Amino acid sequence: MIKQPVAVHSVESVLYPFCNNPDQLSKEQIIRLLQLTGKEETFLQTAADKVRRENVGEEVHLRGLIEFSSYCRNDCLYCGLRRSNAKAHRYRLDPDEIVAVAAEGVRLGYRTLVLQSGEDLWYSSKTLARIVEQIKKLDVAVTLSIGERSFQEYKDFFLAGTDRFLLRFETSDPDLYQHLHPGQTLGARLRCLENLDRIGYQVGSGHIVGLPGQTLSILASDLLLLKELQPDMVGIGPFVPDPDTPLGGALPGDVDLTLRTVAICRLLLPWAHLPATTALATRDPAGYAKGLQYGANVVMPNITPLKYRLSYQIYPRRSNQSEAAGELAQARQLLQAMGRPIASSYGHSLKPGRNTK
Ligand code: SF4
Repeated sequence: MIKQPVAVHSVESVLYPFCNNPDQLSKEQIIRLLQLTGKEETFLQTAADKVRRENVGEEVHLRGLIEFSSYCRNDCLYCGLRRSNAKAHRYRLDPDEIVAVAAEGVRLGYRTLVLQSGEDLWYSSKTLARIVEQIKKLDVAVTLSIGERSFQEYKDFFLAGTDRFLLRFETSDPDLYQHLHPGQTLGARLRCLENLDRIGYQVGSGHIVGLPGQTLSILASDLLLLKELQPDMVGIGPFVPDPDTPLGGALPGDVDLTLRTVAICRLLLPWAHLPATTALATRDPAGYAKGLQYGANVVMPNITPLKYRLSYQIYPRRSNQSEAAGELAQARQLLQAMGRPIASSYGHSLKPGRNTK
C-alpha cells in the first residue's frame, strides 16, 4: 500500500519533538526515528520527501546496471557470489561484450551506466581502463562498482574517464564487519573510500539494514558514518538471505525499517543521490515506489543480458525479470504513475563543492 503524502510546512516542525535540526541528528534521535510507527512514521516519510523535493527535485535518474562478472575473490558471509559457494554459476563478459551491452544501454537512452562485478582480478586495471575508454566514447557517464583496488588502479580508472565509484561499507561496526567479511577490515574499506574521494571520483557508499548481529545502535552509527563521509551517492538496502550462504537461514531485513533508514539518510544528506535499491524491490514488490516516496531519487534498471543476469545471485532474484528494454519500460511506467519525471541529464553529483567532469 503506497502512502499518500501529508501536507507539511517545514521539516523542523514535522520532526519536532524528535529534533530541531534534522541534518544534525544525534545518535539517540536517530535511534528514536528508526523506531517510529504509525502517524509519526508518516511524518518522517513526508519530511524526507519534502527535503528530497527541495534539494534534488522531482526528477528520477535512471542508471543502467551491467553486471559483467559473477566471479569474486572474497567470501562475504551474506553473499551468493562468495568464492566458497560452489553452487554459484560463474560467468564473465569479455571486454567487447561489455562495450556492446553499454552501447545498447545508450541506445535505450541511459545517461549513466554502472559497471558492477564481484572482486574479479581477471580484469586487470589496463583491461578495465580500456573498457571505460571505449564506453566513454558513447557520451555517457560511467560508474564502477568492482570492490577494493589499489590507489594507482583507482587512479587509472579515473584517468580513463570513470566518473563515479560505488563502494558500500555495509556496516560501520568493525567487529561485525570482520565477522561478515573474512579476511577484510572496515579500516581498509574506509581507506579505499578516502582514496576514491582524493582522486576526484563522485563516490557512492552505503550499508545493509537487518544484517544478523546488527542492532539499532549500529544502524544509527551507519547513518552517522554516512554523515561523516559525505558521499555523493548512498545505497541502502535490506538484508536478503541467500540459501547457499552461511546466513541463508537468517531473518531478512525489515522493509519498513529500511525505508525509515533511507528517509533519515535523506535528512542527513539532503543533496545526495539515493537509489530505491534492487534489494528493497526484491523484498517488497512495491519497493521501488516506496523507496522513491521515502527520499530516493534514483532507480537502477538492470541491462545485463538475461542469460547472464540469472547467474548474478548476490541473493535470490525477483522471478519477473525481463531484458533491458522491458526493465526500462517497467521503470518508466512506475515513474509515470507516480508523476515523477525522468531526468535527461547525466545525473552528476549535487554535493556542494564537488567538481564534476
Ligand atoms: S559482497 Fe561483493 S565482495 Fe563480498 S562476496 Fe559478494 S560480490 Fe564478493
